[in-house]
Amino acid sequence: MTALLGCIADDFTGGTDLAGALVKAGMRTVQLIGVPDGPLPADVDAVVIALKSRTSPVEDAVAESLAALRWLRQAGCRQFYFKYCSTFDSTPRGNIGPVAEALMQALDTDFTIACPALPANGRTLYKGHLFVGDVPLSESGMCNHPLTPMTDANLVRVLQRQAQRKIGLVDYATVSRGDAAIRECFDALRQQGHGLAIVDALSNADLDAIGAACVDLPLVTGGSGIALGLPQNFRRSGLLAENVVADALPKTGGLRAVISGSCSVATQQQVQVMRASFPSFGIDPLRLERGEDLVAAALDWASARIAQQPVLIYATATPDTVREVQAELGVAHAGELVENALAEIASGLIRLGVGQMLVAGGETSGAVVKALGVKGLRIGSEIDPSVPWTSTLHDDGRQPLALALKSGNFGSEDFFLKAWEKLQ
Ligand code: ADP
Repeated sequence: MTALLGCIADDFTGGTDLAGALVKAGMRTVQLIGVPDGPLPADVDAVVIALKSRTSPVEDAVAESLAALRWLRQAGCRQFYFKYCSTFDSTPRGNIGPVAEALMQALDTDFTIACPALPANGRTLYKGHLFVGDVPLSESGMCNHPLTPMTDANLVRVLQRQAQRKIGLVDYATVSRGDAAIRECFDALRQQGHGLAIVDALSNADLDAIGAACVDLPLVTGGSGIALGLPQNFRRSGLLAENVVADALPKTGGLRAVISGSCSVATQQQVQVMRASFPSFGIDPLRLERGEDLVAAALDWASARIAQQPVLIYATATPDTVREVQAELGVAHAGELVENALAEIASGLIRLGVGQMLVAGGETSGAVVKALGVKGLRIGSEIDPSVPWTSTLHDDGRQPLALALKSGNFGSEDFFLKAWEKLQ
């Protein structure tokens, strides 16, 4: 059993985004959390290894990415993909350039592309300049990013500052002429001594053409957009079946629970809607700080109700309440108290027989996944845009859990109610 496409993502949610895109494009995809030590799961066409390397020291990002590549090669992947943010989040030192070049060297290839375009989300590239909506990247607010301020929209220049090899450009005049023209341009750039090329793209049709042109490149780098064109190459060469059901998940029974540690606007509404008709238990960080055992209390409370209907356990609070708590406990300490409590509660709920769980909040999801010992996720169909059902992968023979991880502002108001229907 081997996979076709091996991807390395520089952060977790970026990995999820890419995995979801690949499933929609017809590849059965798993997302693995960190470099795995176990074997490749069965029935997988694409693997996304999610690292946390976007802002780590360059040497660490390179070493982890190379370790991920080694595993993906052993898993039999034929083409490799380095996924970063569609706003090219990086510092003057990296890590996009150094990681891409290290992967090129390990794969013994002298040419690849860099294309973060994601037209569906307003990220387009023209004459090497990245636009976010109607404005250049450098005027998009990204110049104020706390970790990766982006002050130059010219990605040829940005990448050249991070890379040893010469950076070229496949401009829109070429891209608009289709995949054969793009491929000719790759060859010309390579002959002129360019190691990487930024590629212009304004639409999904451009992404398809670029994807088709990448058929023979051992390594492709970009945002999640450019990956959309790759599955079709595998289909054309007969490696990927036309009619594969990419979003099928193993059936998971069990009880149902929602855990919410997100205080984002969308989650607040979702919590209100669920509280109106289902049993719910609130976690107050100030009571946790006083040493009250809210984990045991929540699990006791849940055990009396959960067999009858889904339950909600939440720390979600209004901005005013959160500010008061943070003023008293400090932002980091308050966050940690809540994350730890919710993660322990999630583990307890599994022991009570929960087999289907929704988790709201990016950091909260990270804490829950860690506490449950989840090694990876098989990606299923979307409940709402960018929030798929997944099935957990464990390396100790445990039964998979149906898990949906929702970042703060995603999902409709009735998300916590309607999600179960999509599992049927
Ligand atoms: P989102 O995806 O909405 O940003 P996260 O889980 O990433 O959600 O972040 C929310 C953070 O707020 C977490 O660290 C969580 O522990 C913390 N938090 C949740 N509820 C409260 C609360 N009532 N008071 C203070 N912090 C809280």
